[in-house]
Formats: sequence, structure tokens, C-alpha cells
Amino acid sequence: MTGAWRPQPPPAADLTGWQYLGWRCCWCAGLLERDARSAGRAEGHCGAHDLSVEVYECGPQCPKRPVETGPA
Ligand SMILES: [Zn+2]
Repeated sequence: MTGAWRPQPPPAADLTGWQYLGWRCCWCAGLLERDARSAGRAEGHCGAHDLSVEVYECGPQCPKRPVETGPA
């Protein structure tokens, strides 16, 4: 258990508006509360426009967060 591995957030195109704006968890779409933290960058682009954005997760116990298995 190093804690270094982080799941790659969903693509920006798969996020709802609230998730894209950083108001809701990028995994479960739950409201962000005290334990909210950055989940990394959701990658996306539309033509020449870079739509990548930092997204957030409700916390380490998010029910829909991918399991931290890490590379074998
Ligand atoms: Zn969540």
C-alpha cells in the first residue's frame, strides 16, 4: 500500500455539467463535502479546444471510486 496510485477520472465528455464544474463527485455525482479532494484531471478536447479540467471526488470512501489495485 503506497497510496500513490490514483484512478484516472472519467473523460471530460462523460461528466455532467456539475461534475465538470467541480461541484459534484466525478465518480458518484454526490455532493462534495468535508472529505472532498481532487481526483485528478479529466481529459477531453473538442477540436482545437482543450476541455481538460480538474475534477473532484467526495472522498476516499466514495462508493463508486475504482478500487486501488495499482499496477501489478
Ligand atoms: Zn463520490
